[in-house]
Amino acid sequence: MSKKILILPGDGIGIEIVTEAVKVLEYLLKSEGLAIELEQGLIGGSAYEAHGAPLPAATLELAQQADAVLLGAVGGPQWEALDRPLRPEQGLLQIRAGLGLFANLRPAVLFPQLADASTLKPEVVAGLDIMIVRELTGGIYFGQPRGIHTDENGLKVGVNTLVYNEAEIERIARVAFTIASKRGKRVCSVDKANVLESSELWRQTVITASKSFADIALSHMYVDNAAMQLVKAPKQFDVMVTGNMFGDILSDAAAMLTGSIGMLPSASLDADGKGMYEPIHGSAPDIAGKGVANPLAAILSVAMMMRYSLDLPAVAKRIDAAVAAVLDNKLRTADIFSPGSKQVGTAEMGDAVLAALQNQ
Ligand code: NAD
Repeated sequence: MSKKILILPGDGIGIEIVTEAVKVLEYLLKSEGLAIELEQGLIGGSAYEAHGAPLPAATLELAQQADAVLLGAVGGPQWEALDRPLRPEQGLLQIRAGLGLFANLRPAVLFPQLADASTLKPEVVAGLDIMIVRELTGGIYFGQPRGIHTDENGLKVGVNTLVYNEAEIERIARVAFTIASKRGKRVCSVDKANVLESSELWRQTVITASKSFADIALSHMYVDNAAMQLVKAPKQFDVMVTGNMFGDILSDAAAMLTGSIGMLPSASLDADGKGMYEPIHGSAPDIAGKGVANPLAAILSVAMMMRYSLDLPAVAKRIDAAVAAVLDNKLRTADIFSPGSKQVGTAEMGDAVLAALQNQ
C-alpha cells in the first residue's frame, strides 16, 4: 500500500515555502521511485476562512490517515482579534494533540557556510549540530491543578503544576537514545534535580531507560548550567533531552546560536514514529507575499521527514547535500545574505535546490 504525506501550507509565508518544499518532494518521489501520495489540507487562518475552524475535522482525519505531515506556518494579524479557540495557532495545538505528538525534535545545525550569521564567534558555532529532544505533551504546560484564584487573605494566586510520570519520561528518553544511536551516541539529560522532585524522578527514569542502550554515553546537566554551556561551548552537545518548559526555552536559545530562523526545521513524533514536520519559524506577515522568504527550513523539514518517519536516510542525505551545495554556490535569501553572496528569492532558492538534486 502506498504511503501518504499530508501537506498543510497554512498561512503567510507558509504557503510560499511549502510550494518550494513540495517541488523538492515531488522530484524525489519520482527520481527515487517512491510509492508515496501527496494530499493537501487546510489549517490555521486559511482553514478558518474556508470552514470557520483552524483545524477542520476533515484536516485532522487526513492527518490521522497520513504517514507524515508537512506543515508551513499558521497565523497572521487579521486573525488576532478572533476568540482564542478560533485563532490559527489553536489549529497547531489541536493537531499536535489529535496526533499524540509527544516528542519534539529541534535540531540546531549551523552550516559552516553561514557561520557569520551567528551572534557568537564563528569558531564557537561553525559546524554546530545539536538535536534537542523536548517532551511536548506533559509537564508544567499541562499539569493540574492550574489557574488563578484568590486565597484566604484576599491575594490573587497563580498556580501551575510540574508533573511527570515514569511512562512519559521513559518514552521521551527512549526517543532521545534512539536518535543518539544514529548520531554521535551521546545524550545529555537536562533537569533541575537539585531542587525539583519531578526532576529527581526524571533523572532516575532516564538512567533506568539508558540501560537498554549500552552504546550511548549518558550525562546529566542542571538546566541553568545547560543554558550557560549552550552559549559558552555549544559544540560539546550531541543530543539533549528535557521536559516541556526547559526544552521550550533551551531549543529557542540553541536555534538562535545559528542566527538564521529561516534555516531550521523541526519534527514532532508520536509513539509509532509518525510525525509532523515544520520550520520553527512562523508565518512572517511582514514579508508574506513578497517572494523573499527562505524556503530552506521547509525543505530541510522534508529531509527530517525522510529520516524519522519514512525511514529513507539516504534520501534525507541527498536533501542535506543539495542545500549545502546551494550555500556553497553562495546563493542566499535576504535573511542569510552577506556581502559577496548572491541574493535570491523564495522560488529561485527552491529551484536551485532542485537543480542541485538533479546534478547529484
Ligand atoms: P515569525 O517566525 O513569523 O517571524 C519572525 C521574524 O523572522 C520576522 O521578521 C520574519 O520576517 C522572519 N522570518 C521568519 N521566517 C522566515 C523565513 N523563512 N525567511 C526569512 N525571514 C523569516 O514570528 P512572529 O513574527 O512572532 O509571528 C508571526 C505569526 O506567526 C504570528 O501570527 C504567530 O502566532 C505565528 N507563528 C506561527 C508558528 C507556527 O506556525 N509554527 C510559529 C511561530 C509564530
